[in-house]
Amino acid sequence: MYHQAYEVPLSPHHPFPMSKYPLLKARLLAEKIISSGDLVEPPPLNMTWLELVHTRDYLHKLSSSTLSAAEIRRLGLPWSEALWQRSLLAASGTLTAARAALSDGLAANLAGGTHHAFADHGEGFCVLNDVALALTVLRTEGTIHRGVVIDLDVHQGNGTAAIFEQEDAIYTFSMHGERNYPIAKMRSNLDVPLRDGLGDAEYLDQVATHLSVALDQAAPEIAFYLAGVDVVAGDRYGRLALSESGVAQRDRFVIETVRGRGIPLVIVLAGGYAATRERTAELHTHAFRAAAEYERETALRQALPSAL
Ligand SMILES: [Zn+2]
Repeated sequence: MYHQAYEVPLSPHHPFPMSKYPLLKARLLAEKIISSGDLVEPPPLNMTWLELVHTRDYLHKLSSSTLSAAEIRRLGLPWSEALWQRSLLAASGTLTAARAALSDGLAANLAGGTHHAFADHGEGFCVLNDVALALTVLRTEGTIHRGVVIDLDVHQGNGTAAIFEQEDAIYTFSMHGERNYPIAKMRSNLDVPLRDGLGDAEYLDQVATHLSVALDQAAPEIAFYLAGVDVVAGDRYGRLALSESGVAQRDRFVIETVRGRGIPLVIVLAGGYAATRERTAELHTHAFRAAAEYERETALRQALPSAL
């Protein structure tokens, strides 16, 4: 899923790398990880669905552009009608990707993973909680009953954890920097706090241990993977020390493990704040490359006669 409106112009000095969306799309096409035929534009979001996750009061403030100055500061992005439209489209992209994953096994949104959005407020660059919305719509429709959120962005998925805290059928798993934002952590089903400066080996070990536990306990019919790349050494808002190869290994492991169990998988971007927007986009390609390779290898295996 991709839409050109995913990018809303921001000041070049703003820390949020808004241009990573078109840069990532261009790179995926240039490296032939995806073809232009793979790019689907999400439809406008059915607005009544938003009330399944967000409060009427918050939605009213968003749709009428009446957030207070303090609320906009907490959000961390300058408010605009374009940002509102972008938030709606990105949420639609995740929901549409989820429907595609349920029919095809694997799909992605070239945006999304806005996990700091709570039912009644936005923060940390997140307006709407796209993953919570997609899961809730699918459950309300009766399309799925159980789901899992695999949140490997370096920041805790506090909004998602809070939204689903009382909801046993949705299992939230978050691995995140213990001393990083958000300082007040919410309670996921499985929280794995990580120490500052953690490197590849220990990190990948933790992913392997806890992903199995999460999938066993969740028994999900769909999985959402927040493949944030702010775990990489030198990230402006991260405190971990993964290498680029470590991120590639992580993405491949998650995709192989989830798809190996036959669980439909939706990949969303979440965060990434490398030194340049180009670098951030480059780091995000690993999840897509791993997904494309996994699909290709699986198709090849299935094409081989069983006698071989
Ligand atoms: Zn993050």
